[in-house]
Amino acid sequence: MQKYISQLNEAQQAPVLQKDGPMIVIAGAGSGKTRVLTVRIANLMSQGVDAFNILALTFTNKAAREMKKRIADIVGNAEAKNLWMGTFHSVFARILRSEADKLGYPSNFTIYDAQDSVRLIGAIIKEMQLDKDIYKPKQVFSKISSYKNSLITVKAYFNNPELQESDAMAKKPRLGEIYQNYVERCFKAGAMDFDDLLLKTNELLTRFPEVLMKYQDRFRYILVDEYQDTNHSQYLIVRALSDRFQNICVVGDDAQSIYGFRGANINNILNFQKDYENVKMFRLEQNYRSSKNIVEAANSVIDKNKTKLDKVVWTANDFGQKIKVNRSVTDNDEGRFVAGEIWTQKMTNQMTNGQFAILYRTNAQSRAMEDALRKRDIPYRIYGGLSFYQRKEIKDVLCYLRLVINTKDEEALIRVINYPARGIGDTTVEKLTIAANHYKRSIFEVMEHIDKIDLKLNSGTKTRLQDFVTMIKSFQVINETQDAFFLADHVAKKTGYIQELKKDGTPEGIARIENIEELLNGIKDFTDGQVEVDGARGALSEFLEDVALATDLDKDTSDEDRVALMTIHLAKGLEFPTVFVVGMEEDLFPSAMSMSTRSELEEERRLFYVALTRAEHQAYLTYAQSRYRWGKLTDSEPSRFIEEIDGEYLEYLTPHETNYRYKPQIDHDIFGDVDKSKLRLAKPITGTPPKYITDNEPKSDINIRKLKPVSSNSGSNNANLFDNKLVAGNIVMHERFGKGEILNLEGAGADKKAEIKFEVGGIKKLLLRFAKLDVI
Ligand code: ATP
Ligand code: MG
Repeated sequence: MQKYISQLNEAQQAPVLQKDGPMIVIAGAGSGKTRVLTVRIANLMSQGVDAFNILALTFTNKAAREMKKRIADIVGNAEAKNLWMGTFHSVFARILRSEADKLGYPSNFTIYDAQDSVRLIGAIIKEMQLDKDIYKPKQVFSKISSYKNSLITVKAYFNNPELQESDAMAKKPRLGEIYQNYVERCFKAGAMDFDDLLLKTNELLTRFPEVLMKYQDRFRYILVDEYQDTNHSQYLIVRALSDRFQNICVVGDDAQSIYGFRGANINNILNFQKDYENVKMFRLEQNYRSSKNIVEAANSVIDKNKTKLDKVVWTANDFGQKIKVNRSVTDNDEGRFVAGEIWTQKMTNQMTNGQFAILYRTNAQSRAMEDALRKRDIPYRIYGGLSFYQRKEIKDVLCYLRLVINTKDEEALIRVINYPARGIGDTTVEKLTIAANHYKRSIFEVMEHIDKIDLKLNSGTKTRLQDFVTMIKSFQVINETQDAFFLADHVAKKTGYIQELKKDGTPEGIARIENIEELLNGIKDFTDGQVEVDGARGALSEFLEDVALATDLDKDTSDEDRVALMTIHLAKGLEFPTVFVVGMEEDLFPSAMSMSTRSELEEERRLFYVALTRAEHQAYLTYAQSRYRWGKLTDSEPSRFIEEIDGEYLEYLTPHETNYRYKPQIDHDIFGDVDKSKLRLAKPITGTPPKYITDNEPKSDINIRKLKPVSSNSGSNNANLFDNKLVAGNIVMHERFGKGEILNLEGAGADKKAEIKFEVGGIKKLLLRFAKLDVI
């Protein structure tokens, strides 16, 4: 053990050697946070802490597996096997299974993925006869998701007039009812969605003190990686579990908090010291991952953020090469440039494909990259996008298997009841659904008793329904005696699924058969692996749980040598010798959807910091002057983030025009005493004078999101915006209440209030500090 500890620097050793009590390690990218966690766990075990008493929560299951492997190298496989490690979702899914009965769920509950949830919400919206253009299923789902992650249950929702009012203002007065129906339907189907895994864990720990005690007693040492991206629900779970022994160690980097848009709360890391007593705080400063040039360039970018903890990151590594910046004419040219560089570097520096990563802001950008890589015969792997398990044919087969485990699983049943076609039409399914809701039974149960219920079905349909029930039941019998692979193979054949695809005969059909074979291979690996590890047969339910919770990185099991393509969000925690950050353009990165408030822009900047700091030796920033977006060729301009890097760290491979955008062309008077060096572009529009926001303003939390263009001779109207001098008579837009007119202003500073008459909802007095107002 000593050997591994001595491989750490002194600052890293401190949190490893501090055995008990609450502690936080805050440090920049590449400084060894994850490594500290690994060695710390091994050290705890070598000091006699039982592996059963350690819980480690990571960002992906893959990260957990790797950590476990490293720990196994130090303490031995037999010991490491008993560690509880994984993502929040996978660890707590496991706990929920063993405690499910307390919450009224079956222990074999299904986990609905986002696709299942959105489909179910769509069905509910239809049943309620609501307009699906107003109640868009995806939007409704994300709203419900955010409620769940803030622990706002249906009951809490209906006890909170403000939330209801807010949804009503957003023209969705029946959102609460949809939420309620959705929750009821999931419960009836014995299903939890992703957010439930956290919400129900919280419910379990709050409602059942003896269960809380049990897990507090079990998890005497808790460790959390990437703590900066925990949401409220996750935060509460960690707090509850660590409350008794207070042996909690979290590591993170506020500068890498990039999931705010999904409810992650950066305050969890900022407030950690307030949440526990006698918190030991550790800082790591030395970066081991990247060249000096990359570390310093990344520092110079993140320095532009106002909301941050002061941190030092330095490295003893070589200076390395400057960051290369390249301009292309179109996105396809950009793809060709990247593929060409990879090709050349492979030839000249003997690099392998796996040493390159291409990172982008949005999944859609992968297309141009893929085309170019294919033309050069460079193998690549895309992470994210439509995952393997969400492909139609895979999901269909999985849904048969889900149904075998849990016949109440409505989403699975609806998906496969008539595929391959067996003459059970939509009308029949609708009748079944209505009957199921009426009798408060599952659709499957209704089908089992179809003889005794009068649904006005003809005898042929009844027979077909009974045949389906018999088929599923026969699978259940097989499941009791055979392993998951045998059953899956049997299901793929006996349902007629493979035959159907063979009949199809198109290249797509053949590709689908191959995918199913791939799925069966995966199940085989799983069952074989299980025999090796536990001496037990691979249980189907465990396989399905693994699949439901697999993140895209998790499926990276093959060791084929490929270039990695993924979004920056997915790249968190990873490292590659060479990194291309592509699509460095205004409106794309920073994203047009995330530029309206300072905090959004700062989150984009953190994302850029994450991107840059993935690189070990070489980073490229590339952009195109035009690209296809939403089917149209659109002009684009280089991202402001390129210019935010100190020029000394960059090497321009092509001419790069920047100054025209960043020289403020504005009268002094307009900004008064504002420091002009801090002016920067909000959103340039070619041909019209640029619009600026300043680093000094807005001073309060008022989000002034749309600034009118400032012209060089008459900008005085906007001057008061920079100063937040809203005046009576201003027409404003409020996120929740819509359009309104300011009638009156009172108070000053943080207490300043505005009385606003809204077109809908009447007069309201709002504290400007919190109000989200756009002046229009
Ligand atoms: P991120 O913020 O990106 O998650 P991190 O702080 O978790 O980064 P690690 O991934 O743990 O950093 O470490 C970055 C790299 O530096 C890894 O390759 C790791 O093996 C290496 N490293 C960390 N500490 C040391 C050390 N003391 N000596 C040599 N290499 C080290
Ligand atoms: Mg890490």
